[in-house]
Parts: sequence; C-alpha cells; structure tokens
Amino acid sequence: MWRSLASFLGQQPCPCCGRVTPQTICRDCERRLKAWEVRQRQRYWRGSLPLFPWGYYQQDLKRAIATMKYNNHPELGSLFGQWLALSWFESRIAQRLPLQIVPIPLHRDKLQTRGFNQAALIAEGFCRALELPFAPEGLIRQRATQSMFQLSMRERQANLENAFRLGQGLQRQRWLLLCDDIYTTGTTARSAARVLRDAGYKVLGIITVAVGLPDQLAEPTVKATSIRDSVHSTTAP
Ligand SMILES: [Zn+2]
Repeated sequence: MWRSLASFLGQQPCPCCGRVTPQTICRDCERRLKAWEVRQRQRYWRGSLPLFPWGYYQQDLKRAIATMKYNNHPELGSLFGQWLALSWFESRIAQRLPLQIVPIPLHRDKLQTRGFNQAALIAEGFCRALELPFAPEGLIRQRATQSMFQLSMRERQANLENAFRLGQGLQRQRWLLLCDDIYTTGTTARSAARVLRDAGYKVLGIITVAVGLPDQLAEPTVKATSIRDSVHSTTAP
C-alpha cells in the first residue's frame, strides 16, 4: 500500500536503504557511495590496457554493486554508467578520439538467470550520457566460466581461455572501450581485449564502476574533492 502510494507520488524505495526517494537512490546513499570515488585515476590509466575506474570496490559501493546484481536492481547500472560518464568527461581523457563502448558479456545461461547484463546497463548509461555508439553484442561469451573469486591467477587464465569470441556491430575506425562492473586482477579484461585486438580492432582501455584494492590502500574520501580535482590530465595514446 505504502509502496504503491509512494510510487504514485513519483517516489520509490531507495534500492540501497529502502527509504523513499524521488531519485534512483536517496541523497544519503549517493553521498556514501561517492565517498568511495577514486581520486587518482591516473594511477590506473597506464599499461597495455589502461583502466578508468569510478570507485573503490569497498563497503557501500561493494554492497550497492551486489544489490544491483543479486537483488535485481538494474536501474543502479544506468546510474553508475552516468557517474562514470561524468568522470570520464571531466577527465578529458581521449576527448578527441572516436570511441565505441563494448560491455564484457555474460554467458547466455547467466543472462537468463539474472535477466540483465550489468556491464551492458553501465555501458548503455555511459553511452547515453556522452552520446557515444554502443556495441552491446561486440563480444560474445561462448563458454560459461566459473566464478573467479576462489581461483588462483593461473586458474583464472585457464578458466577464461576461449571464453570470448568476436560478436557484431563493431566499427573499425573507432577506438573500442571495454566496460565492466568490477576490475580485480584484469584477467577478464585482458582476455576480452585480446580477442578484439587479434581481430584487428583498436582497444583503448576499460572503464569499470569499481576497482578491487587491498583494504589498507582504500580510504573513503568522505568529503570528496570535486571530480575535476580528482582526475589529473592524462594524455590520450
Ligand atoms: Zn538510500
């Protein structure tokens, strides 16, 4: 009853805390999540597959990503995509390069169980905000892989062998930017990038909502400085 009345008034329960809000998440949860925003992205934007993470995979942000995936809140994916887009825009990384966004795909069995691919929702929110072309089927996951959490580095690599194949809708003249929800060891990202590069596509890097870090290295910024201050100028390749 309360839920339907709230929804009639344009309000719904915040997926993170349950309080009613006219926004996707309430202001309090938004503030908590933004405390985990990465301040020094230039630390990650380097190497053969540069990473652009929005936040640290810790506490509130970790819980919100789990809420999105396991408690059926796809709307959080679009919201994270918009936050990533704003940070990306303000970072001025590769601002002149033509880009196309490719989400890390789920295997169709997992897609059927979950009902959505969180990486695709994030990528879609990112593309809509920045008016960039989206390639939802650019990569196909052809093999169901085990959950990576329990596996060693070598097991992770073996697990991902031939996991992806080239899909459709990719544009050769554009730089491809991969998109995922979480980046931990980078094994998945490198495996996906290899398939694209072997097929002659240019891969710029990967954007993710969160990057995993040892606990002691991540501290909430609480009163986060502005996003502009958090991203120093990084040159495009
Ligand atoms: Zn909330």
